Amino acid sequence: MAVFGTVFMPTMALTRFENDTWTETEFVSADSIQMHPGAHVLHYSSTCFEGLKAFRHEDGSINIFRMDRNIERFAQSSRLLNLPEIDKAQVEKMIIDIVSTYSAEVPEPPGSMYIRPTHIGTEASIGKAAAPSATSMLYVLLSPVGDYFAGGLKPLRLLLDETGMRCAPHMGMVKSGGNYASALPPILKAKADVQADQILFCPNGDVQETGAANFLLVDGNEIITKGLDTSFLHGVTRATILQLAKDHGMTVSERDITVEELLERAAKPSAEAALSGTAAVLTPVGTFIHNGKEYQVGNGEAGPVTMKLRQALNDIQWGKAEDKHNWLVKINPT
Ligand SMILES: *Cc1c(COP(=O)(O)O)cnc(C)c1O
Repeated sequence: MAVFGTVFMPTMALTRFENDTWTETEFVSADSIQMHPGAHVLHYSSTCFEGLKAFRHEDGSINIFRMDRNIERFAQSSRLLNLPEIDKAQVEKMIIDIVSTYSAEVPEPPGSMYIRPTHIGTEASIGKAAAPSATSMLYVLLSPVGDYFAGGLKPLRLLLDETGMRCAPHMGMVKSGGNYASALPPILKAKADVQADQILFCPNGDVQETGAANFLLVDGNEIITKGLDTSFLHGVTRATILQLAKDHGMTVSERDITVEELLERAAKPSAEAALSGTAAVLTPVGTFIHNGKEYQVGNGEAGPVTMKLRQALNDIQWGKAEDKHNWLVKINPT
């Protein structure tokens, strides 16, 4: 199977914001877009995106997971970047229509169809460094993905970084391109220097998240993760895992956690840690690296609670468990 995110369906759904209104959705070739080299996005990073998945069930139906949440976040990101206000109903229809078009291409579990709505400022105006783009383009790309863990579920090594930041503090909750670019230098350095898989950003000791996934700590029957504020991305998988943990009778604590407390709790033999996100679902963390020392999380292996919650989520997505919270939208293949 190809590398995650490198294969695309040949067409995509697209609309433009021009003259203060959204154009009728078009279905166009997904291999290129045209814009002016002076387009706002290329200079001032007026860009945001979403990531969600459609799943094939055994009855042949195609089901999109928590689309409402992703569209809501897409609207919020657009707003926080002063991009034109998206038309949520139109975006929902664009997603459903393009997934329906390619319903036959949605892989069987553990694969899925990854959906990538993208919104960019297109106004050709390099004088607008401190002003919003008056025009924009919004498209929905599709990428069929296989088993993210085809190579096995190997617990991750995370560098705890107390000095750097993933992005500017007020930008954390915006799913915007510039944030990933700003996190890249420290991540590459951590990979080279201490063979870390990711950095867990903990500015001034405040445990936040990694470059593209939320962080969760399991201590006995309690699951702990930072409470929602503007400093980090509010993951749909995070919210889903917390609900499933509640459904399983666990205590959910959404609150700040310091590096000191994290290391203390992680030392317990039964401790577990995991990263959550749409692409990787729930990935176990086996090791923290902090000030030149290595700390094993629990026994360093993928823990039973992590695996149970991951399975519970996959079972709902794959149509093998009841969808009690109505997280799936079944679409009608055309
Ligand atoms: C997308 C993303 C996540 C995970 O969000 P999901 O909605 O669970 O996919 C977490 N952190 C960052 C920085 C992200 O970009």
